[in-house]
Amino acid sequence: MAYRSGKGDGRFDDLKSASAQIEIGHRVAYARQVHSRTVIVVDSAGLAGEGDGLITDNPEVILAIQVADCVPIFVAEQDGGARGLIHAGWKGSAASIAGEGIESMVSQLGADAPSLRCLLGPSIQSCCYEIGEDVAEKFQSRYLTECGGNRYTLDLHSANLDQLIDAGVKGENISFDRRCTSCSGSGLHSFRRDGEKAGRNICYLG
Ligand SMILES: [Zn+2]
Repeated sequence: MAYRSGKGDGRFDDLKSASAQIEIGHRVAYARQVHSRTVIVVDSAGLAGEGDGLITDNPEVILAIQVADCVPIFVAEQDGGARGLIHAGWKGSAASIAGEGIESMVSQLGADAPSLRCLLGPSIQSCCYEIGEDVAEKFQSRYLTECGGNRYTLDLHSANLDQLIDAGVKGENISFDRRCTSCSGSGLHSFRRDGEKAGRNICYLG
């Protein structure tokens, strides 16, 4: 598992050049990310189609997604068999893509949910993730903190944690990197902070 930071707008050129730099380009599978709840089973490198979750049990394939505030969710079986990498922004989180990803690993790859290990990677955290009522109404109140003027902050990590547990993952097998992409000073890219000129954090799982 690794993060790479690439300049640019998150299209595939940066992903390809970053992957080539660390000499894994020929093994990397990626998707056209559209903030959906679509999970794709992949068995080879290259563009896998349109979706926001990639799962595989092919040890040769390295999964890759690009994020700039959304939560990257890394999933792996203890014995290194099935793996999944999920892109969960507010739309994907509202649509339960994390749960869909786990259920797909179970139904498509025969994974055992209680033995899956998950890592929720750096994303925008509630310190910086202010949203309006239009987004807030899609989430249960326990993930929201009111901050006045019909504005709220949203805790994406907690929303995704609960989806993973509801899908059968054990809480003790889930860990977090709680660095905030916007304010932690970690060098990670943030769309909220940098707007259209933001780069993307490229996440790999191999
Ligand atoms: Zn923050």
